[in-house]
Parts: sequence; C-alpha cells; structure tokens
Amino acid sequence: MLTAIDENGQVVNLLEIEVKELTGKYFCPSCKSELFIKNGEIKMLHFAHKSLKACDLWLENESEQHLGLKKALYQWFKKTDKVEIEAYIPEFKQRPDLLVNDTIAIEIQCSHL
Ligand SMILES: [Zn+2]
Repeated sequence: MLTAIDENGQVVNLLEIEVKELTGKYFCPSCKSELFIKNGEIKMLHFAHKSLKACDLWLENESEQHLGLKKALYQWFKKTDKVEIEAYIPEFKQRPDLLVNDTIAIEIQCSHL
C-alpha cells in the first residue's frame, strides 16, 4: 500500500513524499493498525501491515509490478486530472487503487483471473 495515516491523523502518500520525511509511526487507513515502512532493493517504497488479521480492506502482498503500475498510472493521470490513490469509497466499502475525478475507480490486476 502506498498511503497511510500519520500520528497527526494526516494521510501520507508515498508518491508525494521523500523517504527522509518518513519519521514517526504510520497506521492503516482502514483498520488503524500500525504499519511497517518497507524500502528494500526489490520492491519500491511501500507500507505493509504488521498483521493483516484485523484488516478487511487490504489484501497484501501487492507485487512490485502492482505497486509500479499504480505509481505510473497515478503520475500519468495527475498531469491532467484529479487523482487519488487508495481513496476510500464509503458507499461501496472499497478502496480502489486509483480514483480519478471522483468518478472513475481503477483496480490494477496483475494475476491471471
Ligand atoms: Zn489495515
């Protein structure tokens, strides 16, 4: 996941922040549990649950391909449209990968259906 809530209750978007700015604790926007910051050599910077037991909305692990596509599409849409990453849509109780212009939800599928 690329978004989290910081200790002040603010949404943190990893596509809009530098690694050095990541201090303190971060929490899942859905289940409020504390998250790890993962910044390895294989996968791009992302947040991960310490435990998924209490979380209904996140089905980790997102692959590097999934995270990369989410990032690329976010940056592409951002040039011309309003785009939110992992925004919660209460009517559907869903958190799509991207929400474009408040009306188009995009889910990235990298596995065989
Ligand atoms: Zn969660």
